[in-house]
Amino acid sequence: MDDCVCVVGAGIAGLTAAATLQAQGFSVFVLEGRIRLGGRIWTDRSWGDTPLDLGASWIHGMRGNPIAALARKWRIPVLSTDYERPHSCILQVVGSCLRQSV
Ligand SMILES: Cc1cc2nc3c(=O)[nH]c(=O)nc-3n(C[C@H](O)[C@H](O)[C@H](O)COP(=O)(O)OP(=O)(O)OC[C@H]3O[C@@H](n4cnc5c(N)ncnc54)[C@H](O)[C@@H]3O)c2cc1C
Repeated sequence: MDDCVCVVGAGIAGLTAAATLQAQGFSVFVLEGRIRLGGRIWTDRSWGDTPLDLGASWIHGMRGNPIAALARKWRIPVLSTDYERPHSCILQVVGSCLRQSV
């Protein structure tokens, strides 16, 4: 297929659109205005072993949620949030609790 599509924006919507189009045989190029990918999903990794989410980090519901499906597809570990005690634990990178009752 000779058609080429330009996707503007490399947030999750643009990247998903680009991947979907590419899977259907289109040539795709993505134009992003910033110097990084991800848009409002932004993990700051300047603290070495301690990634800090400055944008989206919660998957609001695991059933019927396309983000949850992506996490499963890419084997991204997910942790449940306790809404009764949302700040009750600092998590280590590996997902285990570092300290209780913050
Ligand atoms: C602090 C914060 C916390 C959040 N937490 C959550 C959460 O926990 N769970 C959740 O589900 N959602 C959360 N959200 C919302 C979620 O981040 C957004 O809904 C989602 O990332 C939007 O994705 P998008 O691709 O539609 O847009 P964006 O992520 O905004 O991506 C758009 C991209 O297009 C680029 N762009 C725009 N205009 C142009 C142009 N003219 N030329 C070139 N590039 C352009 C931008 O630079 C950007 O990279 C949060 C948002 C913020 C800000």
